[in-house]
Amino acid sequence: MKSKLKILTLIIVSAVSLAVSSCSSSLMNLQTAKKQVQEYYESGKYSKDLKEIISTAEDQINNVNLTKNSVVVFDVDETALSNYDAVTKVHFGYVESIWNDWINESKAPAIPEVKALYDFVIAKNITVIFITGRDISQFDVTYKNLKNAGYTKFDTLILKNNSIHQSTGKYKWDKRKEVSAKGFNIIASVGDQESDFEGGDYGIKIKLPNYLYLIK
Ligand SMILES: [Mg+2]
Repeated sequence: MKSKLKILTLIIVSAVSLAVSSCSSSLMNLQTAKKQVQEYYESGKYSKDLKEIISTAEDQINNVNLTKNSVVVFDVDETALSNYDAVTKVHFGYVESIWNDWINESKAPAIPEVKALYDFVIAKNITVIFITGRDISQFDVTYKNLKNAGYTKFDTLILKNNSIHQSTGKYKWDKRKEVSAKGFNIIASVGDQESDFEGGDYGIKIKLPNYLYLIK
């Protein structure tokens, strides 16, 4: 009995130490993680990944039978516009007041690779609709920022009413359903978060990388 207990104790101790060691070995030092993310964005890897994804997306769109109702939905943050400067300003963190000041300045630049996809879509006479998780109170500054960044032609800009508690993924799906109900045919959606493709009604999924933050 005693030896059985000893074996059991040994097994438990081993299991716990294994769990602890596997846990700590899977953890990365925060400074190292930040350096890796910075390297990804600033070494050209991010741009290379975007170009590959967008090239595939353009091939896919070229194979779609377009109609006058065809629409491509674009997300705004880290899709049409880059907030990398705002994120690095707080060392890859998030400070709500700094983020909102940045949004209100309307000076986020276009992500050039995504702007090229937008130009490709516009040249094909496909309608563009923006659906963003930004709050409705930020409509004017977002509209201005998109125009400033060169997104001059679009049908609608849809923002979230954050006083209604709903996940971003569910809100975006509801809005895509509303767009479809108006007679539009969403042939593709472009976004940097999986929540940009929650549910359905998104057409071709054009998922861009984002190692800066996660939105559910
Ligand atoms: Mg986004």
